[in-house]
Amino acid sequence: MLSQKLSEIEHQRQAALDDQELLDTPADPYLDTIVRVVRDLFGVQTVLVSLIDRDRQWFKSRLGLDIAETPRSISFCDQAIKSTQMFVVSDAHSDPRFRDNQLVTDNPYVRFYAGQPLFSEEGQALGTLCLIDSQPKVLSPAEIQLLKDMATLAEGYLKLRRFSHQTEQLRDALSREQRKAMLDQLTQLWNRAGLEHFLAVEHRAAHDRGVYLGVLFCDLDRFKQVNDTHGHDAGDQVLWQTARRVSAAVRPNDIVTRNGGEEFVVLAQVKDAHELEQIAQRIRSKIGDSHFTLEQTELPLTISIGCALTCETETGHDAMKRADRALYRAKNNGRNRVEIADPFKSNSSC
Ligand code: GH3
Ligand code: MG
Ligand code: MG
Repeated sequence: MLSQKLSEIEHQRQAALDDQELLDTPADPYLDTIVRVVRDLFGVQTVLVSLIDRDRQWFKSRLGLDIAETPRSISFCDQAIKSTQMFVVSDAHSDPRFRDNQLVTDNPYVRFYAGQPLFSEEGQALGTLCLIDSQPKVLSPAEIQLLKDMATLAEGYLKLRRFSHQTEQLRDALSREQRKAMLDQLTQLWNRAGLEHFLAVEHRAAHDRGVYLGVLFCDLDRFKQVNDTHGHDAGDQVLWQTARRVSAAVRPNDIVTRNGGEEFVVLAQVKDAHELEQIAQRIRSKIGDSHFTLEQTELPLTISIGCALTCETETGHDAMKRADRALYRAKNNGRNRVEIADPFKSNSSC
């Protein structure tokens, strides 16, 4: 009887989570910002927005951890959502429930954990905002309140997000399995298959709204040198941070994708070439204005961007080719710059 009741409660919780259309979606610049601020505030190694799915915990936002998910069976966050209030393990080594846990005995060697559940509007615990460190730690009452406040911000954002344009698009057009196949593992952005999908969707949507689809082809400058000088892992870190910076530079409904390697393609609905160029310049500044921080070093980096406005009479792919040629010009003209593609054929309106 009790287990039947428990499984009913879990069923409702899972349904609430599924309804959010959050699982297997790209990283989000707002949640990433919250996670970054929380890490600075608490001085811990890892901060996560973790969602508890059927048999796994999947990280919607993560800083300090290189994996996208872990089994639910070993999850600290699962304990947090069961208790429905903040769950703290000050030192996992002296806690019999956790000292043999694989996350404690092996990478990431968790010793301190604090997770504040994140609730849906209906009061279902979806996951947590959590702190992790490989050193023991005791939270002060003020810190406990601070973590609760930061979780309130994350929760509030998730509620607002439910009504956003992109959420509607995901719900209408893509199943979770399709979505999963369209995510880039390294950067947690849409991958090339996602780009293909959204290129067509956004082209139609721009047409329906009477605006243009802008395509921004962005390529890190001299990225190979980062790999050659600092190693492939450092290169991966730079790609991760580039993804965060590009996402933070664009507007909420713009679509950021990783086309492959160190190439990122952004799709933006705009009214004219001027608006498109402004977005491109924001991305360029976001990459070039401050150094990238890696574990061992700080690196100055720049990005070159080729942009094109998609004409009604051309395909998204044609516009991508024109943007790619503009990118080539940006590289030849000295890098760290934005070039706008020549108009499509002789049509001067775009
Ligand atoms: P340019 O300014 O002309 O764009 O020069 P570049 O060095 O950025 O371009 P190039 O095409 O010569 O080098 C791109 C490098 O990106 C080569 C490749 O090893 C590296 N790369 C591609 N994918 C990944 C990845 O997933 N991780 C890492 N670390 N490196 C990658
Ligand atoms: Mg490059
Ligand atoms: Mg390249």
